[in-house]
Amino acid sequence: MLGLMQDWPLLCHKILDHAATQHGRREIVSRSVEGPITRTTYADAHLRARKVAMMLEREGYAPGDRIATLAWNTARHLEAWYGIMGMGGVYHTLNPRLFPEQIAWIMNHAEDKALFVDLTFMPLVEKIAPQVKSLKQVIVLTDGQHMPETALDNVVAYEDWIAQADGDYRWKTLDENAACGMCYTSGTTGDPKGVVYSHRSNVLHAMIAVQPDAMGLSSRDVILPVVPMFHANAWGLAQSAPMIGAKLVMPGGKMDGPSIYELLDTEKVTFTAAVPTVWLMLLQHLEETGKKLPHLKKVVIGGSACPRAMTRKFQDNYDVEVIHAWGMTEMSPLGSLGTIKPEYADLEGDARLDIQEKQGFAPFGVEMKVTDDDNVARPWDGKTFGRLKVRGPAVAKGYYGGAGTDQFDEEGWFDTGDVAHIDPNGYMQITDRAKDVIKSGGEWISTIDLENLAVGHPDVAEAAVIGIRHPKWDERPLLVVVPKKDREPAKDDILGYMEGKVAKWWMPNDVVFVDEIPHTATGKIQKTTLRDQFRDYTLPD
Ligand code: ADP
Repeated sequence: MLGLMQDWPLLCHKILDHAATQHGRREIVSRSVEGPITRTTYADAHLRARKVAMMLEREGYAPGDRIATLAWNTARHLEAWYGIMGMGGVYHTLNPRLFPEQIAWIMNHAEDKALFVDLTFMPLVEKIAPQVKSLKQVIVLTDGQHMPETALDNVVAYEDWIAQADGDYRWKTLDENAACGMCYTSGTTGDPKGVVYSHRSNVLHAMIAVQPDAMGLSSRDVILPVVPMFHANAWGLAQSAPMIGAKLVMPGGKMDGPSIYELLDTEKVTFTAAVPTVWLMLLQHLEETGKKLPHLKKVVIGGSACPRAMTRKFQDNYDVEVIHAWGMTEMSPLGSLGTIKPEYADLEGDARLDIQEKQGFAPFGVEMKVTDDDNVARPWDGKTFGRLKVRGPAVAKGYYGGAGTDQFDEEGWFDTGDVAHIDPNGYMQITDRAKDVIKSGGEWISTIDLENLAVGHPDVAEAAVIGIRHPKWDERPLLVVVPKKDREPAKDDILGYMEGKVAKWWMPNDVVFVDEIPHTATGKIQKTTLRDQFRDYTLPD
């Protein structure tokens, strides 16, 4: 017997319909690429997205076509996404921090037919476009007045282009399982792999994200997604903010401390999200200027481990609640969030920080387990680590073109490549990437734990730990440190600070100081490069 409820497909453009109907006058504020702050509303975005859809159709693009975007977070980028999805197309976000050859490779692999691009990236596109055989058209996210000279064919200014349509467009009625978006993993090992989102997975993910025990968002929030739309869907905020009708503040290309502070302050932002490196810059700016954050209530920090010292600063010095989150491009991306269950509600001080250092628990819609190498589940005791596996309606079941099949099993579990433990209350803690964990005498040492500890030292700006070959123990940890500006910490001072806070056999065998630690295009420490850099390094006896 079937239920007698309506078959109302979960389609992304219905989110924007809802935002325009219920929250039409709510603002979308952008730091435009041209410079000034611009203001539109969900009602404007709704009309302009339909103009995008109309124009795409008029130019001959069809449902299923991949339409790339190479752009910062702005209202125009958001409209383009919804316009692409609403005509049945598939937005494909490109990360401008990748090498040009990688971007061209990804575009060819996805067979992108058109590209929406910010002015910032025109020089990059001039290099890449001739290499992408499928590319027919470039739409520059600006107006006629700001259009640059270019040697490329078939380039139009976005504002002039959408001005040709009246926006009287009916969204395509699609199967909710149709593809709507695409994002490639950064490919730190091997070629990048394409993750393909469906309308259904994006809508469900947005519903998961807004829940009180996840991001906890409402129409009363003012949301600043610092995390770029090209980095794992801006963690779903481009869908969850319009779904609940929150005011959106889009930072454009400026993510330095003073620029982010300015938006937090002038727009009275209550909620923001980004990777730890962004918050390092903001906190430094606040410390230098003595400024405060009177409006901000919550910050979601993820993408790499949020150091305890950062959580402490936000909470103790600025009265901003930190939610540590973990996820992956393959998970749309949210996998777990560190809101507080009743079991931990009474904890204070360091005991509370111990919980917040974990990556949190899985919301409804994400199942997780940790297993050994033979896929046998390990206990949730908060210390036994294993391979972290996940499944759910917004988790990938494969990669575009059939790559990486070994990461998916018959029961639908996706092997994240992360190593983690889970405590009896369901709080998961990432201890490493499987390929970064240090194997010393048959036991595993978590590089993330050591890094988190080292950055707690007052003179340390950033820290990375890598395994160095060792004749007796296989591998031993080397701590690589970037000191804070104008500080010259001593090796023994740092090791002394760490001593007693981790098991003795976890202690790094040596400390080296560097000016800079290499990062990936999504802001993570690039351990492969660091390992190459220290390949010939020998540890002291
Ligand atoms: P990319 O490889 O393109 O950077 P993702 O942004 O999808 O892709 O990265 C996902 C990985 O980032 C996770 O598998 C995990 O290793 C790491 N990660 C994400 N959030 C956290 C976190 N809070 N703590 C530790 N690692 C994290």
